[in-house]
Amino acid sequence: MLEIFKQTGALLEGHFKLTSGRHSNTYFQCAKVLQHPEHLTVVCGEIAGHFSGEAVDTVISPAIGGIVVGTEVGRQLGVKTIFAERKEGKMTIRRGFSLEKGERVLVVEDVITTGGSVREVIEQVEAAGAVPVGVACVVDRSNGKVRLHANQYAVLSMEVVSYAPEECPLCHEGVPIEAPGSRASAGGPAA
Ligand SMILES: [Zn+2]
Repeated sequence: MLEIFKQTGALLEGHFKLTSGRHSNTYFQCAKVLQHPEHLTVVCGEIAGHFSGEAVDTVISPAIGGIVVGTEVGRQLGVKTIFAERKEGKMTIRRGFSLEKGERVLVVEDVITTGGSVREVIEQVEAAGAVPVGVACVVDRSNGKVRLHANQYAVLSMEVVSYAPEECPLCHEGVPIEAPGSRASAGGPAA
């Protein structure tokens, strides 16, 4: 699995400025794996396989990152798939999507860092009287430290170390820094 991430450029190693402003030697662009249907099938197959015994009625994902993964997991499980999205900062279930009392719901996300979005989706599921039966993600960047559910599954789990800019060892070594956003707009990872 790690090889697929490296091959597709989804897992970049170097010196990066994260959106938080902190620096890291690792950056994930999950979408770079998931854009390839053969990888999407395999990655989501891991998640669907893990939860196949949970009698899942519905898959829900936080928009936008979780939608592709959620849709494929839902397709493989053969269940309804919906998503939640932020409206004026608050995670909501819209577009005519609804959950019923007792409905067994699997929450699927692409990348978990702090778990904030997933936590809010779980709250929405519970508010509807439905039952969150598990949480799945493609990449857990907290290496298991962020616990959102007793049945939580990550295809890939790893610790992503980050540093305050003034404490960054890569800066001290004089390694040039990249902002992954600008790198992407420049046409993908440099060699
Ligand atoms: Zn640095």
